[in-house]
Amino acid sequence: MDCKEFQKNIHRYLDGELADVDAERFASHERHCELCSHQAEELRAVSKMFEEDGLAAEFAVPEVLRAKTLRAFQEEVQENSVPSWWSSLSTGLRSGVMATAVVGLLLGVALGSTLSATLTPTSDRSLLYVALLDENVGELP
Ligand SMILES: [Zn+2]
Repeated sequence: MDCKEFQKNIHRYLDGELADVDAERFASHERHCELCSHQAEELRAVSKMFEEDGLAAEFAVPEVLRAKTLRAFQEEVQENSVPSWWSSLSTGLRSGVMATAVVGLLLGVALGSTLSATLTPTSDRSLLYVALLDENVGELP
């Protein structure tokens, strides 16, 4: 059993979904591996919170887990970094690009509201048609 196998099936192990033989292998690895036992402990803490507090616990992520997730995310962002074209821009150009994006967004919103205002009378009229049609259909034999 290596860490890779342990982590791949850690949820099944903690949920007691493994056969006894496998569960024993997992327990053994957990006893001997600091990394995996730490992870198992964290996951147990999370599921314990779910059991004790129900759904409310969904929003109360343990501080350790939160910090870890945040760190992993930051590392990911640093590794993949921002697009190279963005880094090559000067600060002035960057704010220019941002401003353009914001203006574009505002224009889109403004255009959207105008369009929906223009379209409303049309849909009112079509409602009228439907009402007229209903009346006429009612008079048919
Ligand atoms: Zn391990």
